[in-house]
Order: sequence, then C-alpha cells, then structure tokens
Amino acid sequence: MKKIEVMQNVLEANEVIARKNCELLERHHILAINIMSAPGAGKTSLILHTLARLEDKLNIAVIEGDVASTLDAQKVKNKAKAVVQINTKNMPESCSLMAGMIAKALEELPLESINLLLIENIGNLVCPAEFMLGEHKRVVISSLPEGDDKPVKYPLIFATADLVLINKMDLLPYVDFDVAAFCRSVTDLNPKAEIISLSCKTGKGLENWCSWILAQTRTVSAKQ
Ligand code: MG
Repeated sequence: MKKIEVMQNVLEANEVIARKNCELLERHHILAINIMSAPGAGKTSLILHTLARLEDKLNIAVIEGDVASTLDAQKVKNKAKAVVQINTKNMPESCSLMAGMIAKALEELPLESINLLLIENIGNLVCPAEFMLGEHKRVVISSLPEGDDKPVKYPLIFATADLVLINKMDLLPYVDFDVAAFCRSVTDLNPKAEIISLSCKTGKGLENWCSWILAQTRTVSAKQ
C-alpha cells in the first residue's frame, strides 16, 4: 500500500513538471514528439532520416535519452540544430526519461530558433508509457523482428500513442510478423492511433512519417 502511494506521488509530481514543459514549448511554438520503442527498433535511425528529410523545412532539436553513453547524440550532433544528451544511469528512474530531465534539457536548447523537438526516450516498452514529458505527440516504434504481439504484451504504451510506426518492413519476407494482426491489436487498444509502416533501411514509407510531422507542426506551431 505504501509503495503504491509513493508511486502515485512520483507520477503526480512528474505530471506537474510535464505541464510546465508543455507551456514553455507552446510559448515558443515548438512541437515536441516523444519517440518510444524497445531497444534496437530504430529510434535513432528514424531521427537521422527525419533530420535529413526535414532540415530545409524545420529547425529541429533533439534530446537523446540513454541509460549510458553518448553514441546516439554523437550520431545526430552535426545534423540537428541542437542536441542534448541525458544519461539516466545514476538517476532514481533509469528506465525512462522523466519530465524533470526534459525541463533541465530545455534550459540548454535555443528555444527561440527551433520549431520541432524530437525526444528519443530510453529503449523500453514499459516505463516510458507511465511518464509524460510535456510532449504534444507520443510515437511508438515496433519493428518486425520483435514480433507482432507487442501491443498485447505491453498495452499501455500503445494505448497512449498518437502514432505507431512499424519499422524494418524490408524484413517482412524473412520474419513471421502478421501486419494485419498487429494493426488490429493496436486499434483494439487505441482506435484513434494512426499507424504508418516504413523501413529506415530502404526509405520506403518515410515520406508518410515526414508528412505526418508537418501536419502536426501546423496544428501546434505558427513559427514555420
Ligand atoms: Mg538510439
């Protein structure tokens, strides 16, 4: 019982900071997207492709969350307008980014000169579902080698997603992944979630993802 109360307090405190983050982002007309997935599903690859394809249309900053290392931040460093690395290994909650970490990162970013913030969350399908960061949109990537049962096994993250991306579609001939069954599971949990299938390897479908981002920026941001 005690443990439940503590967890509730952590979530409530997180929520308060998340709301402040969102207000700050909106004052600067910045769209923030929280990108979540299991390790290796393609979060960093997706961010790199997004930077390459949208750099002439949007000023993009990236927050890189990782338990340890700056490997992903190094990869995006030269492509993004600004990058902040968050390592969670010495923090009480190391399996997810939390709103307080984003608040700190926002202090380091040139908010005046960006209009899209991509947040790469920690590779994990459980904890990131619990913690709102102040983002406008939540995106979950599932990749074919993980199997099509992830929405059934980890429902919360799919239930709270605005968009679900099915990545590594180029592997479809080689793996047992029932795309229709996966989509049904997502829709059962979350009828409003959009689903886009793509391959960061071949580039197929990335145009749909980029169009989705541009459509979202028009709803949140007037600063183009
Ligand atoms: Mg990564």
